[in-house]
Amino acid sequence: MAQAFIADRVVTPQGARRTALLLEDGYAGEHGRLIRAICEVGDLPADAEVIDFGPRALLPGLVDSHVHINQPGRTEWEGFATATRAAAAGGYTTLVDMPLNCLPETTTVAALEAKRESAAGQSLVDWAAWGGAVAGNQADLLPLARAGVAGFKCFLIYPGCDGFSMIDREQLELALPFIAESGLPLLVHAELAGPIDAATESLRHADWRKYATYLASRPDEAELEAIRLMIRLCRQFGFRLHIVHLATAQALHELQAARADGLPITVETCPHYLHFAAEDIADGATLLKCAPPIRSLVNREALWQGLRDGVVELVATDHSPCPPSMKRLHEGRFDLAWGGIASLSIALPIVWTGAVQRGFTLQDVVRWMSFAPAALAGLSDRAGSLEAGREATFVVVDPEADFVVTPKCLHYRHAVSAYMGETLRGVVEATYLRGEPVYQAGAFVVSPRGREHRLR
Ligand SMILES: [Zn+2]
Repeated sequence: MAQAFIADRVVTPQGARRTALLLEDGYAGEHGRLIRAICEVGDLPADAEVIDFGPRALLPGLVDSHVHINQPGRTEWEGFATATRAAAAGGYTTLVDMPLNCLPETTTVAALEAKRESAAGQSLVDWAAWGGAVAGNQADLLPLARAGVAGFKCFLIYPGCDGFSMIDREQLELALPFIAESGLPLLVHAELAGPIDAATESLRHADWRKYATYLASRPDEAELEAIRLMIRLCRQFGFRLHIVHLATAQALHELQAARADGLPITVETCPHYLHFAAEDIADGATLLKCAPPIRSLVNREALWQGLRDGVVELVATDHSPCPPSMKRLHEGRFDLAWGGIASLSIALPIVWTGAVQRGFTLQDVVRWMSFAPAALAGLSDRAGSLEAGREATFVVVDPEADFVVTPKCLHYRHAVSAYMGETLRGVVEATYLRGEPVYQAGAFVVSPRGREHRLR
C-alpha cells in the first residue's frame, strides 16, 4: 500500500510548506523506501496510508561531516553504537568519521578495513570515513581513495593525541599531488605552531585556570597563518581545500577573496563557536576547551555574518568526546584538559536557537547542516535534500518547542556537556532512515540499520 508523510513545513530545495512525501511501494533493495514524489496533499492516492505530523517541520536527515567516533581502539571515549544513537536523537542520519583518536588511525587501507569490521552491525545511522594524511603515508592516499574514503584530514599542528602525526609544508607538498589526483577534499585543521609556541612561552607563569590564558595561548594569527599557507598551496596544486572548525572571523575576508579567484575552498564552523563567547566562559570551565578556542562575542557575531554571506557554508559538530576524567574538572586547568566539545545529539537545537535570534530560517539550517556537508563528503546524490527518487531519510522537528539540556538528552558515551542546563529551541521528535523510524519519542530502533557510504 502507498505510504505518505505530511507536515506543515516540509523543507525542500523549493521552500518550506505543507506538502506530502509519497513513498514508493515496497522496498528498493538496499535502498529501503524511496521517495516517489513530493506532492500536494490533495494529489495523494486515495488509499495511501498517511502519517500527518501537523505543525511540525520535516527536514532532510542531517549530515555531520566532522565527528570523532574513536572506534576501534578508544570505544571507551565514544563508539559507533553510542555516537550513532546520539546522532539519531539529534536528527543526523549520516556521520563522517575523523581518522584520528581511534586505534589504528585511519591512515591505511588496513586500518579502514579494521574500522569497517568494528562498525559492522553497530550503527543506527549511516556513516562514511575520512582518511588521514599524515607524515609519510603519501603512498596510502590513492589506495584509501579507491577503498572508499570521502576525503582526507590533516593537522598542521600537534593533534592533541599521539599516533596521528602532524604534517608540515614539505610533507604536504609530497601529499598534495595525490590528493589533487583523487579529486577528494583535504580537510585541514588550520593552526600553525609558530604563533602558539610564541604566545605560550610568554604565558609560562600565567594562571591556567583562567580561560583568558588559554585563549591568549592560541591567537587568531595561528589560524590566519595556517589558512594563508593552505590558500597558497590550493592555488599551486589545485586540490579541494576544506577548512574545518573555523574559529577566527578574521580569516573570512581572505577566504572570500580566494574563492572569488575561483579556488575550490569550503569552510565550516561549529555550534560552539556560534553559541558561546570567551567573555562568558568561567575560569576552570574546561568543558569549553577546544582548539582553535572559542573567541570573543564580536568574533562570534562575525561568524554568523560569515554564514549569512555564504563564506562559511557548513556547520559541523566536531563532536569529540573523552572520558570525563580527561576534562580535569576538579583542577580546572586549561593546559591539562582534553580539548573537544561533544554536541551530536543537540547540535540542531543549538544552531536553530541562535539562528532564530538572528532571523535565519529552517532552510538556512538545512543548507548548513545537511546539504553542504553532504556535498563536501561527495554524498549529494544520496543525502542532503528531500527529492523524488531519494531515500526517505528525514527528521521531524518541533521548531517552536523549548527544552532544557539534561544528561537524558545526550545519549552519547559519557553524559557530559558544556551546554548542560541551557534552554534550547527545537525538539527532534523522530528520525527516519529509509522510511523507518530509528528514533522516535525518546526510543531507539532495536536493530541497527545504518550502513557505510562508500564513494567508490
Ligand atoms: Zn575534530
